[in-house]
Amino acid sequence: MNVIDELIANNREIAALLPDKNLDVAPRRRLAIVTCMDSRIDVFEALGLEPGEAHILRNGGGVITDDVIRSLAISQRRLGTEEVMLIHHTDCGMLTITDDGFRAELQEKTGVAPAFAIESFTDLESDVAQSILRVRRSNFLLHNNRVRGFVYDVVNHEMREVTVD
Ligand code: ZN
Repeated sequence: MNVIDELIANNREIAALLPDKNLDVAPRRRLAIVTCMDSRIDVFEALGLEPGEAHILRNGGGVITDDVIRSLAISQRRLGTEEVMLIHHTDCGMLTITDDGFRAELQEKTGVAPAFAIESFTDLESDVAQSILRVRRSNFLLHNNRVRGFVYDVVNHEMREVTVD
């Protein structure tokens, strides 16, 4: 069976068992979390979060792209969030590629040079710091100084904070 068919079958069972939920669209903890798409990060489990409490924005690397700023602007201006938590992690796939190398590979294989930035990085801490600065410097956000960044260890689940002056 295709994996998606399998998940849809799971959902039918789960939907029948779970009680209905009527949570507010605005996250109760007034928090947005930006993290990587990495399949080993269970944001809810790692932080003791419940559905309805925070916005979770994910992409390759947990990078602050224009599209993440777009979502954070909506999150803060329409849905009441006031803090941003950035979570990068150990053993990230973005550490294994380079911008130039991956860009060249895409162009070579497809004939088209991507219009987007690859946003690979070589140092986790400095990329978290870079991401904090991007949030701080965005004029589109209402609360751009309320941002903190962390590195999550995918083996032992511990988080360490990265600070920027
Ligand atoms: Zn990652």
